[in-house]
Amino acid sequence: MVVRKRVHSTEQMAPKSRDPRSQIPSVDRLLQTPRVQELLSCYKRDFVVGEMRLVLDELRHAPETAAEGSTTECRASLAGVEDAALDRVEERIRRATMPRLRRVVNASGVVLHTNLGRALLADEAISLVREAAAHPVTLEYDLARGTRGQRDAIVEADLAALTGADAATVVNNNAAAVLLALNTLSEGRDVVVSRGELIEIGGSFRIPEIMTKSGARLREVGTTNRTHIDDYRAAIGPQTGLLLKVHTSNYRIIGFTASVTLDDLVTLGRTHGLPVMEDLGSGALVDLTSYGLPQEPVVSDRIARGGDVVTFSGDKLLGGPQAGIIVGKQAVIESIRKNPLRRAMRPGKLDLAALEGTLRLYRQSPDLVASLPTLRWLTRPVAEMEAVGQAAIPLLAERLGAGFRIDMVNSESEVGSGALPTMRLVTRALLISHDEHFPDDIARRFRAADPPVIGRVSGGVFLLDLRGIFAPEELAVSF
Ligand SMILES: *Cc1c(COP(=O)(O)O)cnc(C)c1O
Repeated sequence: MVVRKRVHSTEQMAPKSRDPRSQIPSVDRLLQTPRVQELLSCYKRDFVVGEMRLVLDELRHAPETAAEGSTTECRASLAGVEDAALDRVEERIRRATMPRLRRVVNASGVVLHTNLGRALLADEAISLVREAAAHPVTLEYDLARGTRGQRDAIVEADLAALTGADAATVVNNNAAAVLLALNTLSEGRDVVVSRGELIEIGGSFRIPEIMTKSGARLREVGTTNRTHIDDYRAAIGPQTGLLLKVHTSNYRIIGFTASVTLDDLVTLGRTHGLPVMEDLGSGALVDLTSYGLPQEPVVSDRIARGGDVVTFSGDKLLGGPQAGIIVGKQAVIESIRKNPLRRAMRPGKLDLAALEGTLRLYRQSPDLVASLPTLRWLTRPVAEMEAVGQAAIPLLAERLGAGFRIDMVNSESEVGSGALPTMRLVTRALLISHDEHFPDDIARRFRAADPPVIGRVSGGVFLLDLRGIFAPEELAVSF
């Protein structure tokens, strides 16, 4: 009672008080306000009260900011302080409820940006994901028999049809696929691989390290730029378990080079009764040259050449979810499936739904470019990007405010994720400049926008690549 009385008397004195701290409302009082009542209809009381206490603490420590923005004594009244506190509470709650996995605008010009989640799913894949998320599904269920089924059965027939392989299995990502295949086929034995193919992908995936973790021994042959079939032959012995070929997907060795073809490796493997594995990485399911893109090894071609097992990613050129796909001979896939490690790497129902939806498009869509976002981004016509860019300029200018210049320029985007590394995609970009701001500052400003826009600083300027912008409104963000 005493406390209540004191609060009451402070309130009455407040307008005359010199100490702004005395104007800070109590938690109890804020709880009575309609604004907080509304918050309580959406959020847990403890959560709202917790945020409120933090705001009130802030105000007690920096009371002069309580009525920030007010210019007259009148505005700094009790009601003003209360409103300011509630504004802060609402702002804190808005931020605390914003997902950390935030939607952003990819104006970086990198189509398969690993840090932005690589491939975007096709609508058909998204609808299967929704279905699988919201309903019970036949993840491992044989409807005909009413018994337990195979997870792989969801995509195996489609993968077999698209690659020509006998069998297929799916794990979390391609790094896992390589690890699992090496462990199954060559644990405790030697894996022969060319020195020129000991690649590193994105810092954390290195063939020699994956090899060690798999329990297989690396037997490197040849030199960085030249490896011959005789190098492999000389390395084969009683300890050999596997011949491995790795697609150097994120770099090219050019100049005085020699590498062994898969055909020669397959012949050598057959002679010695050794399986041949190829890590394709990006793994195209169709011939990209028919879309005006550079040649990338196609999985079905590698299977046709006799490779026993091929591994590739689901979210690179294939344009599906994060997944590692292993296709190959029945017996090999069967032994991979039986490996207990596989259980630790199996994909969830959402990823399998997305993969099934994506693979179906490859088999059934009359217009793959229109239905598969990755292919649509990669083959984006310049005229289309220009039209969107022109329409976006006035929208952006209005939001950026005075002093900013926006110019349409020619530039180059890249595929990303280590796919088609030497390919430069001709693109159009908006160059944003300001006499008083460095490009990095402009980049930061765009990242702080809602939704955040990820551009790129290149050649000392800040660019918004239009390759992934399909409507001018996507750039009409709030700063
Ligand atoms: C990308 C890549 C990997 C790793 O695949 P993730 O799906 O990113 O795990 C492995 N090998 C090669 C050749 C690659 O290009």
